[in-house]
Amino acid sequence: MKPEAVVILGATGSIGVNALEVVAQHPERFRVLALSTHQQVDHLLRIAEIHKPALVAITGCTPDQEQMQAFAQLGIEVLQGSEALVRMAQELPYDLFVNAVVGAVGFLPTLAAVKRGKRVALANKEALVIGGSLVTAVARAAHADILPIDSEHSAIFQCLFGESPDAVEELILTGSGGPFRTFSPEEMRQVTVEQALRHPNWSMGKKITIDSATMMNKGLEIIEAHWLFAMPAEKIRVVIHPQSIIHSMVAFKDGSVKAQLGVPDMRVPIQLAMTWPQRLSSQFPRLDFTAMNNLTFSPPDDKKFPALGMAYAALQSGGTVPAVLNAANEAAVHLFLQGRIQYLRIAAVIAAALQKHVPDLHPDAEALLDADRWARQFVQQNH
Ligand code: NDP
Ligand code: MG
Repeated sequence: MKPEAVVILGATGSIGVNALEVVAQHPERFRVLALSTHQQVDHLLRIAEIHKPALVAITGCTPDQEQMQAFAQLGIEVLQGSEALVRMAQELPYDLFVNAVVGAVGFLPTLAAVKRGKRVALANKEALVIGGSLVTAVARAAHADILPIDSEHSAIFQCLFGESPDAVEELILTGSGGPFRTFSPEEMRQVTVEQALRHPNWSMGKKITIDSATMMNKGLEIIEAHWLFAMPAEKIRVVIHPQSIIHSMVAFKDGSVKAQLGVPDMRVPIQLAMTWPQRLSSQFPRLDFTAMNNLTFSPPDDKKFPALGMAYAALQSGGTVPAVLNAANEAAVHLFLQGRIQYLRIAAVIAAALQKHVPDLHPDAEALLDADRWARQFVQQNH
């Protein structure tokens, strides 16, 4: 079999690097066709030397002459600028499109890839939060598969395999509860960027790590699950499971529950998304049941983590509202990481943006992007 040509957007990030490790472990199966970075050009160069893509894209800075020469010597074409990701999705002859960029920038490339009927391994949950209705409708029409990389959604995807949709009672998304699960409201007022970046179980990019601390990550995942599995909001529940061993569950109408378990290691769901419906061998760590103390579960604290309620409400409202939720969150997280707003202001400014937004209930892609821009501007002016 000829190796599959793979494009990886966000190759220099946490998911991107792990996806490249999966590629490296299965050279007979995959070859890298193209990669992107936002600003880490030297990191991209090191990766390019190993994986020898035909093309790279640099979206967030201008490479210097020496870096351009290095790519030229490797025979690699370089695209630059914010349009590059959509062009890659539209024009390159790939078999598998791995979208591992962070944020709303992942939306249009995802839409372009599914429009071509391509297989998309999707880490970029923001694409589905913003435009899940559009992306899934286009994917259905073009017979494109969207394979979830997000560990919860990979778990649910696996639990649903071979089951009839009518047999499902609810989807149960597990979440660790993040670093502030046991904090008092007083302690929550004082949290620092450094504390918020210390996730108990997963090592990830900064934005999703902050989202995990506010539980907006779980909120975005509720919306992601809605679109991936065509489940209404009231059939998607969140359960706190601090050990992150059960990655999520599906409850069926006969009272049976299926769970998917594993060591918290993103390479497992990444590999599965890239190879589905096959399961390839891996050397990734195994669960040791004899060493596991106990697995605990509790309901989420909606008061302490208002992001969850906001996500449910945004999903119920539909239209441009989830795009506003997502963009306001991105802008607020950015301000928090820069030390310009307090942790508790993140949820407060998102709530303010949602309240002020006048929704368009049947948006096209352009209207979704307008709502995204509006929300970012609102947060800039009202934080
Ligand atoms: P990282 O921040 O580690 O990496 C993001 C990647 O996207 C980097 O290659 C980065 O380039 C690039 N990038 C950043 N901003 C832009 C931009 N404006 N335009 C184009 N490219 C950009 O993020 P993660 O790998 O942690 O997360 C990626 C996605 O996967 C997110 O949507 C996240 O929610 C999702 N996800 C991540 C998990 C994880 O374990 N990390 C788990 C589940 C889902 P550069 O390196 O130059 O900054
Ligand atoms: Mg997740």
